[in-house]
Amino acid sequence: MAPNFYPAYPPDLSREQQEYLLTNLKDWSIAHGLAVRPAPPYVQPQQDLSGALATTAPVTLFPSLFPQACLEQAKSVAKAYNELYSAIASDEGWLQGIVEELLEIDDFIADLWKVHLAVKAEGFVQPLNLGLFRSDYMVHVDPSASQASPTIKQVEFNTIASSFGGLSTQVSALHEHLLSIDAYPQSDLLANSSALSQSTSVPGLALGMFKAHEAYGRSTTGLPTCVIFLVQDPERNVFDQRHLEYALNENHGVKTFRLPFGRVLDDTKVDTNRKLIYSPPHAPNKHFEVTVVYFRAGYSPSEYESHREWDARIQIERSAAIKCPSILTQLAGTKKVQQVLATPHSPHLKRFLPDDAQAADVLKTFAPIYPLDKSEAGQEARKLATNPDTAARYVLKPQREGGGNNVYRKAIPGFLKDLPETHWPAHILMEMIEPPAQDNVIFRNGEMLKGGVICELGIYGACVWKTGEKDGERSMIESFEAGYLLRTKGSGSEEGGVAAGFGSVDSALLV
Ligand code: ADP
Ligand code: MG
Ligand code: MG
Repeated sequence: MAPNFYPAYPPDLSREQQEYLLTNLKDWSIAHGLAVRPAPPYVQPQQDLSGALATTAPVTLFPSLFPQACLEQAKSVAKAYNELYSAIASDEGWLQGIVEELLEIDDFIADLWKVHLAVKAEGFVQPLNLGLFRSDYMVHVDPSASQASPTIKQVEFNTIASSFGGLSTQVSALHEHLLSIDAYPQSDLLANSSALSQSTSVPGLALGMFKAHEAYGRSTTGLPTCVIFLVQDPERNVFDQRHLEYALNENHGVKTFRLPFGRVLDDTKVDTNRKLIYSPPHAPNKHFEVTVVYFRAGYSPSEYESHREWDARIQIERSAAIKCPSILTQLAGTKKVQQVLATPHSPHLKRFLPDDAQAADVLKTFAPIYPLDKSEAGQEARKLATNPDTAARYVLKPQREGGGNNVYRKAIPGFLKDLPETHWPAHILMEMIEPPAQDNVIFRNGEMLKGGVICELGIYGACVWKTGEKDGERSMIESFEAGYLLRTKGSGSEEGGVAAGFGSVDSALLV
């Protein structure tokens, strides 16, 4: 779509220019932690027995072109999205209705709900919540409009483990550095360094965590306090997380520890007042009262191998630590919730965003999404999804996170044919957003990939809210936009996940 929407870009590189650019990119990246742990086949485990190796994170050589109006639109709606999703997460009764449609056909959602119900039966002891959200968009140009004015359409909304905020700040700084040392060839578009948008996601997300830590209040156990980063083990994207840890420590003086999900039951306990106590295995006589548990794990069913992981999840959920996210907040981020809000003529948005102007701004960012159930919209969607000609404009998504789970376009009818019809409602059907074409060069695993690319913009939102006594009651304590992420993939690939192995981190050159 819109092949000539953007001006010609990026400029060509001579052999010498390319070498100079790459040398600087590689050195700056490692020197500034724009890095990941290497993966096979790039490096085999026996080549890195000490786990000491790091390599450059996948990045674009050039900042990609991005309409300034679209970046501003996405940022301006961030606080409305904080309101919307904190309101959904505080409305257990409404969420229950959503979850009930999935209970029979999605074991993971059913198991998460069981954790919530078990803790509810005991009673919650922590009314405070932390949301570190990321709303993802692509640029959309209406092909029927006489004058192409780009807007944004939402791909999805993430309420758990929204990653790459750590690396995003670094990649915008990398591109600014490359520009400042004349590593880019002459180009009108690159002449103005103020067109390079710098991401503030590291200080923004760290501030969000600090606000929750502060709202938790003083330790009542007499123990020092800490924030826990709940992580996967092994984790290749560890530096992304480390940047947030270091900022929380350096900017706000908060102690942080990384706790692998598999060690929760070994290293933490819940005391009689349900305070979460962390005892680091490296310091046998030290104990900490945990103020905030920031999840960078626990979002995928494959992480819950046995009852131990579910027990670990219950342990955290029933504790007095502020969860980022709680089970309800995690469930608010399901694709099903997004679909219920974005199905054309849906009445639900109003329930959570009574402010008409805010609701209108959010509504503008929705692309049409349909259920695959027996409702009227669902019947219509079933027709679209089973016909190869119409299915080609859609993507089918299950209730999963982390990339690699979707079924695209012409593959949808065959996929549905093999799936028992009772399981169809576990998926949603979404119109594909077709952003305007542009070129870039992706540097990934030591290889350069040049050609057409597609960019996905993520806007982080941080908020701390307090749920009230009655279901649906809530008061917002802190809410702000917390920086941006641009991820870029080859236009031949449907998926864009950087960690899933398809994309790169990028920054926006505003046009
Ligand atoms: P996940 O939670 O696994 O990240 P997403 O909804 O973000 O799931 O889908 C993964 C990827 O699929 C996105 O990053 C994007 O590249 C692509 N994608 C998803 N929905 C759309 C859409 N409506 N239009 C175009 N691409 C999409
Ligand atoms: Mg997601
Ligand atoms: Mg995504």
